[in-house]
Amino acid sequence: MTWISCSRLPRLMREYADTYSRLPPHLQTMLDALFPEPADFLPEDGSVIIAAVPQRIVKVRFFYRGQKIDAVVPPTYDRRIDEQVISHIAPILEGAGYGIVPIELPKKYLAARAGLGKYGRNNILYLAGLGSFARLVSFHTDLPSTIRPLYAPRLHSSCELCERCVEACPSGALRDGDIMDAYRCITFHNESTDPFPSWLDPSWMTCVVGCMRCQEVCPLNRTYLGHIRRMSFSEDETSIILGGDKNEATPLLEEKLRDIGLFSEFFLLSRNLSFLIANRTGQNPYGKFFIARQSRMER
Ligand code: SF4
Ligand code: SF4
Repeated sequence: MTWISCSRLPRLMREYADTYSRLPPHLQTMLDALFPEPADFLPEDGSVIIAAVPQRIVKVRFFYRGQKIDAVVPPTYDRRIDEQVISHIAPILEGAGYGIVPIELPKKYLAARAGLGKYGRNNILYLAGLGSFARLVSFHTDLPSTIRPLYAPRLHSSCELCERCVEACPSGALRDGDIMDAYRCITFHNESTDPFPSWLDPSWMTCVVGCMRCQEVCPLNRTYLGHIRRMSFSEDETSIILGGDKNEATPLLEEKLRDIGLFSEFFLLSRNLSFLIANRTGQNPYGKFFIARQSRMER
């Protein structure tokens, strides 16, 4: 966990914007769509707290027409932890007379500047004792904090003589060396409801959402790769997921998907699982809904 005094935020956000302005225009457009303008809601007093919470890889198994379809949900998708962190900390702060509210800020950048972690060559934040398998949660409190040192965003020292992630990335998103091309990153596309670009080869996808390839090969994650959960989905549950309508989910299916952070991503899960199945079995599991989408994607 790290604290940043709100008096530091204007400077940090200016520096963030400066870094951002040096990105190629297509990446700026992408980020504009993903993040609101932070300057609109920067609190002036108190502190921003960023907590890093360990999360595990989830190995999921779907049953489709008698075949097992194995895939992965990367760590960090379980958003329920955000509320849990706040519900743990709120009574402590409120007991001392301070409030606490969630706040959306560029958490990874701020965590790096506050010294909570260092960047890998794959643009993912690595934290001591957690590797990259952690979800960042940020919130604001009116409890003031002391001015603590800030650090320049740093590349992890282990990256200096290593390029494993660059070699493992199937889509060439890390080819540039200095800057990750987020447009080439599988995660960007399988988290988006837009059609997949024609260059994206479905065989690259091993996750039902996101991508783990550059994290799986990273020596900084070696200790944490064994921290996994497993969950399987019956033929009936898989069929409901492929149908694409979350209202069709049984209470048990809903609970299972909520448990791994994917109920709110039902549409993406359905679309991406369809691609995985089509690629691995040669069978087309698309329902009517997906036939329309597929034809758009193939145009
Ligand atoms: S794989 Fe190597 S270069 Fe890439 S983030 Fe890990 S240590 Fe750094
Ligand atoms: S998440 Fe996947 S596509 Fe994105 S940089 Fe890593 S390996 Fe490449």
